[in-house]
Amino acid sequence: MRPIPYGRQDINQEDIDHVVSVLKSDWLTQGPAIEQFENIVARYCGAKYAVAVNSATAGLHLGALALGLTESDSLWTSPITFVASSNAAFYCGAKPDFVDIDLTTYNMSMEALEKKLRASAKPKVVVPVHFSGLSCEMKKLRELSEKYGFKIMEDASHAIGSSHDGVKVGACEHSDLCVFSFHPVKIITTGEGGIVTTNNKELYEKIKILRTHGITREAQKLSENDGPWYYEQQHLGFNYRMTDIQAALGLSQMKRLENFVVRRNQLANVYKKEFEGLPLAWQVISDKNLSAYHLFVITLDLSKIKKTHLQIYKELQSHNIGVNLHYIPVYRQPYYKKLNHVPSDFPNAEKYYQTAITLPLFPSMTDEQQKYVIEAVRRVLV
Ligand SMILES: *Cc1c(COP(=O)(O)O)cnc(C)c1O
Repeated sequence: MRPIPYGRQDINQEDIDHVVSVLKSDWLTQGPAIEQFENIVARYCGAKYAVAVNSATAGLHLGALALGLTESDSLWTSPITFVASSNAAFYCGAKPDFVDIDLTTYNMSMEALEKKLRASAKPKVVVPVHFSGLSCEMKKLRELSEKYGFKIMEDASHAIGSSHDGVKVGACEHSDLCVFSFHPVKIITTGEGGIVTTNNKELYEKIKILRTHGITREAQKLSENDGPWYYEQQHLGFNYRMTDIQAALGLSQMKRLENFVVRRNQLANVYKKEFEGLPLAWQVISDKNLSAYHLFVITLDLSKIKKTHLQIYKELQSHNIGVNLHYIPVYRQPYYKKLNHVPSDFPNAEKYYQTAITLPLFPSMTDEQQKYVIEAVRRVLV
C-alpha cells in the first residue's frame, strides 16, 4: 500500500484541458490568463486588487517591500508557521520576531501580542498566519495596529475559501495586504504560485511593478525623446511573475474551490466525531468562522498516554500514514539562532511542538482511507 499523504492536489480533466488550451495559445506568460485569474480571485475574496506571483514566498517578500520594511524595522509573526512568513523580514534586511500562539486556535495569541507591544519596540509589520485556514482575530488585530501603528500583511497561505463573520479571507477588511499560496498541498493549486490581494491602490501598483523587475512601460507616455520601444526601470524589482500556464490551472481550480472546502470540512468533522473521548485535542473553531481546513492537526494529551510523541508519530508512519508536523517553531531553525530567541519565551508554541501531529486531509481522500487512519490512531493511542 502506498502511504496516505497528509495532503495532495486534486487535478481533473477540466483542469488539464484549461492548461492545454493555454499551451496552444500565443501566450505562455505575460498573457491574458494572468489578469483573468487576478480578477476572479479579487472578486471571489471581495478585494479591489490582486497581483499573481510565482509563490506566496514572493508575495510576502513584495508585500513587505511595499509596506516599506527596511533594515531598521522588525516584522512579527507566529512561530508556528512555515519559515517563509518570517523570511520576508530577512529579505528586506529587517529583523523577524515572534509572538506566542493560543493553544486552542494555534493562531497568534492577541493577548501575547498586546503584552509584547506594550513591552518592546514596535514592529513595522505584523503577519498573522491563519493556521490551517482559521482566521486570526482580525478585528482585534486592527485595533492594536491603530493603537500601536503597525501594518498588517495576512499570511493566508492556508486560507483561500475561509471566511470570518461571513467575510472572505482576502477581502482585506482589517488588513493592508493578504497573501495566498497555490502550492500543490494547499487549498487550490497552480503548481507553484501565489497571489496578493489589497484594497490599497498604491500598494497594488508598487507590488505590480516590483513583480516584473521594477520596470514600467507606461512611462513611455511621459517620454517625448524616445520611441515606442521605451520602458523604464524605476525600482530594483524581481522576476516574480506567474506564467499563463499556471494561471490557467488556477482559473480552473477556482471553479472547484467551494467543493474542495466542503469536502475538507466533511472529513474534518468526521475526524472530530470519531476522536471524541480520546486523549487528544484539535483546533477550536468558533461558529463565526468557516475554515478552508488545509490541515487536520491533533495534539496529544501525553499525561494520559503511555507512549511518547515520537513513538506515536513513528507508529502512525509504520501504518503507512503520511503524518507530518506543522510546524517546527521557526525560532528553532539554525538560521534563526543568531536572533537569540529563548524557547521558554514561547511556552505555548513549545507545548504545541511537543504534542502535534498532522493527519491526512485532502479533497480526494476517500471515506475508506479516512476510516483506516481513524482506526490506526485509535490503535496506537492505547
Ligand atoms: C506554503 C506556505 C508558505 C509559502 O508558500 P509558497 O507558495 O510555497 O511560497 C508561506 N506561509 C505558509 C504559512 C505556508 O503554509
